[in-house]
Amino acid sequence: MPRAVVWFKRDLRVADHAPLAEAAERGPVVGLYVHEPEILASPEWSPGHLAFIEDCLGQLRDRLASLGSILLTRHGAMPDTFDRLHDQWRFEELWSHEETGLSITYARDRRVKAWCRRRNVRWTERPQHGVVRPLASRDGWAGRWRRRMNPPPVHAPTSLTGPTADETSSLAAEDASASDVRGDAVNPMVDAQRGGETDANVVLHSFLHERGEHYQRAMSTPIEGWTACSRLSPHLAYGSLSIRTVHHATRDRIESLRDDPTAGGWRRSLASYEKRLRWHCHFMQKLEDEPEIEFRNFNRAFDGLRQEDRSCWTAEEQDRFDAWVGGRTGYPLVDACMRCLDRTGWINFRMRAMLVSFAAYHLWLHWKPVAEHLATRFLDFEAGIHYSQCQMQSGVTGINTVRIYSPVKQAIDQDPDGRFIRRWIPELADVPDEHIARPEEMPPLTQHMAGCLIGETYPAPVVDHETAYRAAKQRIFDARGTSRARQEASRVYRKHGSRSRRTERR
Ligand SMILES: Cc1cc2nc3c(=O)[nH]c(=O)nc-3n(C[C@H](O)[C@H](O)[C@H](O)COP(=O)(O)OP(=O)(O)OC[C@H]3O[C@@H](n4cnc5c(N)ncnc54)[C@H](O)[C@@H]3O)c2cc1C
Repeated sequence: MPRAVVWFKRDLRVADHAPLAEAAERGPVVGLYVHEPEILASPEWSPGHLAFIEDCLGQLRDRLASLGSILLTRHGAMPDTFDRLHDQWRFEELWSHEETGLSITYARDRRVKAWCRRRNVRWTERPQHGVVRPLASRDGWAGRWRRRMNPPPVHAPTSLTGPTADETSSLAAEDASASDVRGDAVNPMVDAQRGGETDANVVLHSFLHERGEHYQRAMSTPIEGWTACSRLSPHLAYGSLSIRTVHHATRDRIESLRDDPTAGGWRRSLASYEKRLRWHCHFMQKLEDEPEIEFRNFNRAFDGLRQEDRSCWTAEEQDRFDAWVGGRTGYPLVDACMRCLDRTGWINFRMRAMLVSFAAYHLWLHWKPVAEHLATRFLDFEAGIHYSQCQMQSGVTGINTVRIYSPVKQAIDQDPDGRFIRRWIPELADVPDEHIARPEEMPPLTQHMAGCLIGETYPAPVVDHETAYRAAKQRIFDARGTSRARQEASRVYRKHGSRSRRTERR
């Protein structure tokens, strides 16, 4: 019976885990998670991600132990870590899910493949999500996604054969300690969601049965969206829940509501939700098909439009970036979102789009440093979705509608009584409702009475909205209008475009 290592990466669960289920049927299995220095040093990494992963690993360790095996954790480079493990416990098979991630993980997988050949280890990868590898054409992709999602989720194994007791104690002795991995990094996300498969299922159940009824109406507001959105994104990003499990649970719930005349709100919301599960994979497919989008514009005609190299930034560009990062742009909704992200690691889609739009258009900053910073603040950082969306919201794909959000209009529409703004910007706590979206318009006496002096307690707007909006619009439409941009847009559409136009607009 072959000995197998199941290598957990962004699939930290036992349910609907085909590699684990298949390996378990063939022989003894140990689970392995590796904290890789390259990932820990990447500009997208945050100690908040590690805290979530640690939660997941804790629950995974308990589940594997209850089934009869162990989860090993290591802190080291790849494939050297496999080398050492292989010396300790000769394994013939390696099982994992396919990963669509940062270029460093792609390069690491190539090294692992070469290592497996050298050591005569058979590596079997199974698809995760609806991402197709390799994909020849986008035509018919949605049908393939449905065919991937339709089979029921794979059951967790009922038992596992693990290593012997002696082997277990020597293998476990080398486990990585959380403090060793974390070093002296401080986690600012003190109010973030907790990780783990059990938590993921609780969140899924509460969304489908308690919180989700007003999802469609409330998803765009930062206050109501907090509970009306599913909040499953970090669980999907780290795989404490599979997208297929969510898809089936959603289908079952929709089916159960079919004949209920009072469930119109639920049905609309869940139909809208279901589509987004496909978007998850649609956006990841873009990175799978063109890994370069982590570094360069989808549409190469936009190269050079904004300055990417931070060492070439003017002092003014750096100041604008710092104001945006620090939640001190003078636009209350932008600042509230940035401060909320620092502590919680989550904000809803509309606010994410507004944050990037503001950075890209009003502040005219390149999407790459903007994306890297937000990646450290999003607990659910998922490279394929993130880089695609950051480019899309910066207008450099050439195939999406250009959306330049007004942060003032968004504040009026999405936070009309300023509850969200006041929660995250205590300096504005006593600003009257009529000034909460534009506090700089308060007369001096009102500022004094509200205890908020513009330019002292709270900054004046870092740029003037109207001027910045008009300049950005002109620049982006000039760039879009060139024949090169149009040719490139056709290429981008053929390679990546959703064949259903509604998806691309978002
Ligand atoms: C600039 C920007 C960056 C983003 N970066 C990420 C990221 O790193 N990781 C991430 O998971 N999502 C990202 N999103 C997409 C979206 O904002 C989040 O998935 C969503 O807000 C997560 O909250 P939720 O799980 O409650 O979402 P829900 O609205 O409940 O949606 C359910 C699931 O559908 C998927 N989904 C929803 N909207 C989208 C979308 N527009 N594109 C792709 N998938 C979607 C997600 O997996 C999400 O968990 C980004 C959006 C923008 C505008």
